[in-house]
Amino acid sequence: MKVIIAHRWSMSESKYTKVNLNKELADKIEQFIRDYPEHGYRTLGQFVEDAVRRRAEDLRIFELSPRFEHFNLDKENGIIRIRDKKYGIYADIYAIIRNGKPILWCEHDHSSSCEHVKYALSLDKVREIFRCKGWELPDV
Ligand SMILES: [Zn+2]
Repeated sequence: MKVIIAHRWSMSESKYTKVNLNKELADKIEQFIRDYPEHGYRTLGQFVEDAVRRRAEDLRIFELSPRFEHFNLDKENGIIRIRDKKYGIYADIYAIIRNGKPILWCEHDHSSSCEHVKYALSLDKVREIFRCKGWELPDV
């Protein structure tokens, strides 16, 4: 069964998405909605949206997503600070030359291929540092 869920930020038609729901489960919930109107649900979609929102709040989805955030950038010294909400840390990433090759080095993980480095490489501002220095982008 297709259930239409409204995105949190808008009530306009274009801001809806469809999800599939097990038919048996959907029938059971619809029956419940009819039998127990005192809970305030009028449609299956309304029920599902409420359930999804509660679960999202349990998981702190609105607070924790997106996981990575570009915090700041010291262009001159090639230091990129990434906020990682999963671990509640800031990872400092350095654009440096090691063994003759330009790399991004994560101080937090002591790695040139961790998730922070991968995220940093996706940022235009970081790619620009490499362009300005005339360095090739590292393969991660
Ligand atoms: Zn890292």
